[in-house]
Amino acid sequence: MKDFTYLMPTKLFFGRDCVKNNSGVFREFGKKAIIITGRTSAKKNGSQNDVVSALSENGIGYCVFDKTEENPSLETVIEAAEMAVAEKADFVIGIGGGSPMDSAKAVAFLAANPDEKAEFLFEKGQAKHLPVVEIPTTAGTGSEVTQYSILTVAAKKTKVGLSKRTFADVAFLDARYFESLPAGITRNTAVDALTHLIEAYLCTESSFISDAIVEKGLGEFALCKDALIEGSFDYETREKLLLISTLAGMAIAQSQTSLPHSMGYYLTFFKHLQHGPANAQFTKAYMDFVTERDKVDNILSVLGFKDTSELDGFLRKLVERVNCTEDEINYYTDEMMKISAKLATVSRPVSRDDMYNLFKVSVM
Ligand code: NAP
Ligand code: FE
Repeated sequence: MKDFTYLMPTKLFFGRDCVKNNSGVFREFGKKAIIITGRTSAKKNGSQNDVVSALSENGIGYCVFDKTEENPSLETVIEAAEMAVAEKADFVIGIGGGSPMDSAKAVAFLAANPDEKAEFLFEKGQAKHLPVVEIPTTAGTGSEVTQYSILTVAAKKTKVGLSKRTFADVAFLDARYFESLPAGITRNTAVDALTHLIEAYLCTESSFISDAIVEKGLGEFALCKDALIEGSFDYETREKLLLISTLAGMAIAQSQTSLPHSMGYYLTFFKHLQHGPANAQFTKAYMDFVTERDKVDNILSVLGFKDTSELDGFLRKLVERVNCTEDEINYYTDEMMKISAKLATVSRPVSRDDMYNLFKVSVM
């Protein structure tokens, strides 16, 4: 058996009204919070109100940064961190999808190191940071249980993961916040979670524990397939999708994501394709390429698909796709070949021709 380490230090509270029922938890982190959200959803789905009530009940002050955009930019995170410093926030609460949750982690580093330039987020080596609380309102990224934070960096023309990493101290998982999630976002984000499960399982850094987590997640995902196709979700299915996303996050926290995620970043940056669909576009080619054939068969069998084409057909029914030109594929291929850490997540050498073909069969 392969050696491995396991770390997932986030304390989870799961269940209906878990913020309200555990409001005292916020007292651990200080006297003032900065809440990081997207523009509107946290106000509409009740999550922001629950947090504000919990803070007020415990005499904790707060300020709100609600300008986080999808695939958050470095500039937006800098603006939020300036607010955190000006307001003397002791801790950061991210409420929303992966975008506000990832931003909250970046803000936690920037606000604790106000003399550093933002570029320090991408430099190796750890640094102090404010405590982080995460409250997901999409079921997809698992950011509440991962150490990753991914920002759009215009100068690099793609999305880049921070080198500074931290898990949230606490995460609250309440499926009530998802009841308002439109079918389209539910599908996009569920597909992101599925790609986390698949990539964590096939990644060279997978371990006994991450595999066990993935296998449970895939089994639960199989039970949600019909609801995803139909686009109608009862509360029980919402809870399942939330827990699948959290399991998938726990799995990538151990073994990271693989080629589809990095390849997908170009489709998001240049073609504005949502994150989950961008990964899904490469899933079939990636599963056909890797050498772990037993594991590929196991994924298909647990999900209930006869082959990768059937899985791809399912994904095509759920999410949008885009096409790319020859020139675009050549550019993306050259860029991907520079990311040696991602190439190393695949258990066989990846030549430029291989990478080109992975793009070509997926986006042409
Ligand atoms: P998102 O970008 O956070 O949000 C997408 C949209 O969903 C926004 O318009 C948002 O509106 C809306 N929304 C959120 N919750 C809602 C609700 N309950 N009801 C109605 N609308 C709601 O989407 P995401 O897919 O969750 O996150 C994607 C980001 O996560 C990407 O940047 C990706 O790279 C990152 N990611 C991170 C990890 C990790 O491990 N850290 C893993 C995978 C992906 P508002 O703007 O109004 O809130
Ligand atoms: Fe993802």
